[in-house]
Amino acid sequence: MDYYVTLSPGLEKISKNEIESFEGKIKEIRENKGRIFFSGDLELIPKINYLSRTIERLNILLYREEIPNISLDDIYERVYNIDWTEWIKENQSFAIRPLRVGEHNFTSIDIGRVAGEALIKSYQKDKNVRLKVNLDEPDVIVRVEVIFDELIVGIDTTGDIALDKRGYRVFNHPAHLNATIASSLVYLSVWKDDEILLDPMCGSGTIPIEGALIKRNIPPGKFREEKYGFKFIDIFGYELLNKTKKEIAENKNNYKIIGLDKNQKYLDGAKENAKNAEVLDTIDFICGDATKLHERFDSVDVIIANPPYGIRMGSKRAVKKLYNEFLSSVKKVMHGSSRLIVITAEEKMFKDAVIKNNFEIKDEFDVMFGGLMTKVFYLTL
Ligand code: SAM
Repeated sequence: MDYYVTLSPGLEKISKNEIESFEGKIKEIRENKGRIFFSGDLELIPKINYLSRTIERLNILLYREEIPNISLDDIYERVYNIDWTEWIKENQSFAIRPLRVGEHNFTSIDIGRVAGEALIKSYQKDKNVRLKVNLDEPDVIVRVEVIFDELIVGIDTTGDIALDKRGYRVFNHPAHLNATIASSLVYLSVWKDDEILLDPMCGSGTIPIEGALIKRNIPPGKFREEKYGFKFIDIFGYELLNKTKKEIAENKNNYKIIGLDKNQKYLDGAKENAKNAEVLDTIDFICGDATKLHERFDSVDVIIANPPYGIRMGSKRAVKKLYNEFLSSVKKVMHGSSRLIVITAEEKMFKDAVIKNNFEIKDEFDVMFGGLMTKVFYLTL
């Protein structure tokens, strides 16, 4: 079976490792486009939807073609020629979820309309049945994506609530990080079992919570199942749930996770989220100042930070000051093998502070977060 996943553009190299760990065979990675194509057996569907931490959505790939100057007629023809009887039962409803990226002389609504017509006509030709459309609660979700000149058609195995919606979140920070990005940053840090992980501006706790779930081997799907009532495990008759339940590690506490924020209100929310994610006992949430880390800590191994951006914080001057003072303080608690990972939309301001404070930039790359272009920095002393 051929599949493709969607994820935050820029983090493909991390999701690739995850797909390979589930025994998916990578076929093509669309760097910075948030798409990875691969193949594997049916078991990948419950595995990825239940266990993956970095992927947003898993689709079965039905069709894919580069079509220069793609038109609505091209879309109609390609969708019409797919054998839909294999994928949708006569009594099932469907919805097209269209996506369009790039310049075209049609809208995503046009894609949805044309692809829907083509699918209905194609099914009628093969089975003499007119399928029902249900845009709100379809039995089958069909993804039709036009990304620049490429047409991709797939069956969505995840559903409308993408995998970054974890189900444990009860408190929403106004600028919280996407959980799949948080997990990707933890993987990027290669955080070891006996190391301290610190998020010095943790807000609602996404990074520490995702870190704790990784260390304790708690599958994110567990909370989606509880909150949204997903039953994909039953559907596939796969005993993944029971298997992973047994494998959930005890909290051995030879590692340490600290979430710090200067705002007690956010910390209270972070604690609620962590409690709901069953990892509150794994994380120390502390009210404190990220510019005074050296007054509190002697030595930290892994620091992952998602500091405020000017856009949301208001004053650019305040952000510049914060970045400088934070880097000057964090430097004092890092040792030879410490890693500092930062995600920010204020690339230039942050980089100036990095240079001023004399850090070594091991890696830097763009990550698209929602509609916002951000930069991830991987720094050492
Ligand atoms: N990653 C978080 C989440 O998922 O909820 C969101 C972090 S938000 C972009 C930035 C956070 O930095 C805010 O919660 C803010 O209170 C905190 N902050 C700003 N200045 C700080 C400082 N000097 N010390 C500690 N925290 C600070």
